[in-house]
Amino acid sequence: MDTLERFAEAKLAALSEQQLRRTLHETAPCGPVRVKRNGRPLISFCSNDYLNLSQHPAVKRAAVEATERWGAGAGSSRLVTGNHPLFAELERRLARLKGTDDACVFGSGYLANLGIVPTLVGAGDLIVADELSHACLRAGAALSRSHVEIFRHNDLDHVEDLLATHRASHERALLLTDGVFSMDGDLAPVAALAEIAAAHDTWLMTDDAHGSACGGAKTEVPLQMGTLSKAVGSYGGYLCASQAVIDLIRTRARPFIYSTGLPPGVVAAGIAALDLIANDPGLVAAPLRKAAFFCARLNLPAPESCIVPILLGEPERALAASRLLEDEGFLVTAIRPPTVPEGTARLRLTFSAGHDDADIEWLADIVRERILDHDER
Ligand code: PMP
Repeated sequence: MDTLERFAEAKLAALSEQQLRRTLHETAPCGPVRVKRNGRPLISFCSNDYLNLSQHPAVKRAAVEATERWGAGAGSSRLVTGNHPLFAELERRLARLKGTDDACVFGSGYLANLGIVPTLVGAGDLIVADELSHACLRAGAALSRSHVEIFRHNDLDHVEDLLATHRASHERALLLTDGVFSMDGDLAPVAALAEIAAAHDTWLMTDDAHGSACGGAKTEVPLQMGTLSKAVGSYGGYLCASQAVIDLIRTRARPFIYSTGLPPGVVAAGIAALDLIANDPGLVAAPLRKAAFFCARLNLPAPESCIVPILLGEPERALAASRLLEDEGFLVTAIRPPTVPEGTARLRLTFSAGHDDADIEWLADIVRERILDHDER
């Protein structure tokens, strides 16, 4: 066997040993919150399609019509010939949603962060980031070659200390945080971070992938990044910011310049979904209400977002709980290191507008009686 295969097999064996090997499961959507996995129908509590818009007839129709009219793919980078007419429309809507001059759409949220951060800071500059900020913010920070300092999760004193110590010796500085933390569902103290950033001549950037159009932070932030792949139900990432910043991003962000523009159908779906969101304020409030209903049933503290973690510790426990729920007809994925810190493997539940209260009650009862109580015996 050649050394490449030997390397891969040894690495996989080590990961399997630690219960960290990942496998794909074909999961066919059948309606807003139901999927079929291995031929079995399940109610999903782990999608980020918080408003179920990926399945909305108007969103699907917009994708089909745009594909018929403009084609299946963009054909090239937006700076070459890929900038089909739907991009300007989508960017106008995003800027309006966030109250900024303009917006720039990328191929995905991950690509957006890889592009934005290194365009704004580099060698000789400082990045201060929350320890739980998303992997793609951290990847953007590493790619930028800035000096990176990590602060304890949501710890404002630590942010203040790090900036007081390191700001003066760096030319520019960027403060990075998620708006809603994807694995814990808690919120960043964005207003307080904005004040600290301003006091230290530091630019604040929030990754509100899980908050945008789903009850996220409303504080004024100069660099608001988000994704179209979660509450908006389509695909693509974006930055909302001032005109000069967006023009610079379009000129310099490498994943924007060197990667093909999103397909017309995907962009059209994003536009249609943003229209539905703008026209129905009740829709955006629904996922948090569903999460609160679940937490109340389990006597858990009221959730800050529609993401609810149930910490179980070791990966095997989280996997066993996920399997038990699957046997009962629920799809709830186990989240394990390295996605979350060692010892904090968990079930991560996400609630969406389309979940039935009866299903939530049934799920909560199983979690209480067969997962949480079970361990205390
Ligand atoms: N930021 C956060 C906080 C995320 O949770 C995710 C997706 N898991 C992303 C960025 C990446 O977004 P996308 O899926 O559009 O690449």
